Amino acid sequence: MRHDTGSHPERAARIAAIERELAARDWCGFDPRPSAPATLSELHAVHPETHVARIRALAATGGGMIDADTIVSAGSWDAALHAAGGAVAVVDELCSGRARRAVSLHRPPGHHCETAQPMGFCLLNNVAVAARRARDAFRVERTMIFDWDVHHGNGTAEIFAGSSDVLFCSIHGSPLYPGTGPVDEIGHGAGAGFTVNLPVPPGSGDDVWTSLVDAVVLPVAREYQPQLILVSGGYDAHREDPLADCEVSDDGFARIARSVHALGNELGVPVGMVLEGGYAVDALARSVATTLEAWAQPAPAPPDVPDAPPYVVEQLRAAHARRWSILRRDGAAASA
Ligand SMILES: [Zn+2]
Repeated sequence: MRHDTGSHPERAARIAAIERELAARDWCGFDPRPSAPATLSELHAVHPETHVARIRALAATGGGMIDADTIVSAGSWDAALHAAGGAVAVVDELCSGRARRAVSLHRPPGHHCETAQPMGFCLLNNVAVAARRARDAFRVERTMIFDWDVHHGNGTAEIFAGSSDVLFCSIHGSPLYPGTGPVDEIGHGAGAGFTVNLPVPPGSGDDVWTSLVDAVVLPVAREYQPQLILVSGGYDAHREDPLADCEVSDDGFARIARSVHALGNELGVPVGMVLEGGYAVDALARSVATTLEAWAQPAPAPPDVPDAPPYVVEQLRAAHARRWSILRRDGAAASA
């Protein structure tokens, strides 16, 4: 709440609305608790000291603009530490076996923040800090990050582009800020194939989003066999969101959450979520609640594999057939 961005869409009212909605639903069966700040060593597993010190110093002098979209206020350093710390706490709960599902509901968001460049409302890359915590503290060798925010998680993609120990899958609107994330951007070196970008056109709604989850994200995950699934949970693909043009409904987000829940159950691995965007505050609060409600229920059976949208199938085959058998011509996702 002390990350003061004024009238910016990424504002404190988002968290207040989520808290109100979850409190009214008795926290959907979850156990709410405050998070500790991340430690500097946890941050430095992702970001260089110069990056971290820059944000800290800007906040200490009262704040300022990093770019036209990215604001630092006097309270932003503390807020950013707790946002990263919440993501770390999710990993600690999940990887210690204390919880099977956990969520971190903090701001500022994180997925646009690159290794050494805050941008797009994001100061520290919370989900990346979480993934590195899982590797460093719990020896997790394969983490899947599924980014369902409507914007491409360029920061997370950049941080893990050369890594095979993190599989990054993103569904995002295109064309849309930040303009990255084409299908043929697949990572490089040891990370080649471990970035799976699924851009969708403006107007894409529940059917497009859920078909990509069930026909591409889940099958690729089965092949990767992650030991941990982390969701970069943005809710700005919602039809009410003012910053993007997708048409996902509350029920669409519930369907996506159930599919990821089923995946975690099927693979026997824990699932966590770190809040990213979502700027229609009422829709954001409702949709976060539907995610928690879905995850508080017994996991459903894995969804049927639908045909992936044809427009993306040929590009997926061309980009990813070397790495993922599921995306070869005879793979299930390629049946459309
Ligand atoms: Zn977003």
